[in-house]
Amino acid sequence: LKGPFIDAKEIINKIEKNGHQAYYVGGCVRDLLLQRPIGDIDIATSAPPTKILEIFDHVIPVGMEHGTVIVRQKGVSYEVTTFRVEGNYSDHRHPDTVQFIDQIDKDLERRDFTINALAMNREGCIIDLFDGKADLYKKVIRTVGNGVERFYEDPLRIIRALRFSSQLGFQIETNTLTAMNQVKHQILTIAIERMTTEMSKLVQGKYVHHGFAYLQKTKIYDYLPILKKHPYIIDKISTKIKPLGSLSELFALFYMIETSISISTWVKSWKCSNKVRREASHLVDALKYYEKNGLNQWLVYQLPSEYHDGFVRLVNLVFENLSVSKTEVASYERTLPIRSKKELDIDGNDLVELFPHLNRGPWIQHKLQELEKEVVFGKLNNNRNLLKEWIKWNPPEIN
Ligand code: ATP
Ligand code: MG
Repeated sequence: LKGPFIDAKEIINKIEKNGHQAYYVGGCVRDLLLQRPIGDIDIATSAPPTKILEIFDHVIPVGMEHGTVIVRQKGVSYEVTTFRVEGNYSDHRHPDTVQFIDQIDKDLERRDFTINALAMNREGCIIDLFDGKADLYKKVIRTVGNGVERFYEDPLRIIRALRFSSQLGFQIETNTLTAMNQVKHQILTIAIERMTTEMSKLVQGKYVHHGFAYLQKTKIYDYLPILKKHPYIIDKISTKIKPLGSLSELFALFYMIETSISISTWVKSWKCSNKVRREASHLVDALKYYEKNGLNQWLVYQLPSEYHDGFVRLVNLVFENLSVSKTEVASYERTLPIRSKKELDIDGNDLVELFPHLNRGPWIQHKLQELEKEVVFGKLNNNRNLLKEWIKWNPPEIN
């Protein structure tokens, strides 16, 4: 065992010293066997949450009633969840009832897919009750138990199957796929935020074309907000989709395909944050500008640098015969004479002083932006006197 597993081992040891069982569980075991980068380490234990609170100093009780707490150690968070079985998901978010148990078997049985139902003890021995290891090697996603039942129990698992196919490049096992098709209408009952979280992981998957191929083939989009009314959006991109950085990029892509649906509409119906709205709008503005003018200093200047990579990805997806590279964008960025309006060697007050007979008004902003453009395009040096000179020759037109 190495890396994050060693750090987490202290937690397992401590729980065991207190007379309870504890295992690494779920995604981290799967990713270890696949030799993928390990995300979060999750721990499953026979100790009840109150016991965990008692034995560790830094515990955040995030979901005591579901048996989940976060243990903080050396700046890292570990989700520690008590072995449990679940009742119905009638609110489609959380099970109505959970019952803590003291054996891991039934806890593994409630998990969605065989590849996610693996546990490992502190020595590295793996508990594999549902042939998850074999499925990892075969590269298939298969439900633990009867697919139809498991998808009815929590229809989010249908989207999760697509998400894992997108992240891992796995096939969905035939019976599981049939069950997904049979139960997909139940997707309408799940909380949108849960769907969105999975979709956000789906679009970032290394094998996103797998995920989209399934999305299209199963017509699961018929049960997703907006897409149900505009299925051709998925048809149009599913063959050429490449891994994206975020849902913001997906919305920008959707918008470029169907301009009648605004970014706001996507963000609202998919219940995303204002951050997503802001990012997607920036990207759309840049793409529209690019369509008209191509890549230039002004585009790169206006688009915050954290969106540059997303912009490059999208140009290459949206515009058939055009392409832009990260290097091109970076070299424009490096040679920009200024980074923001604040760096302009002149401001609104200077303009007011230069034209004392004019009232303050929108002309100030207009002139400043003209100056900004001249400077960004390298037509004018960012020097106070030169800027003033330019203004004298290009005075504001007031009518
Ligand atoms: P990631 O690396 O993206 O975090 P993960 O496998 O850890 O992948 P999570 O969503 O963090 O996925 O869930 C952790 C584990 O909890 C899963 O591996 C699975 O065993 C179980 N699980 C999560 N969601 C469900 C669900 N809706 N139904 C059944 N089991 C689930
Ligand atoms: Mg996880």
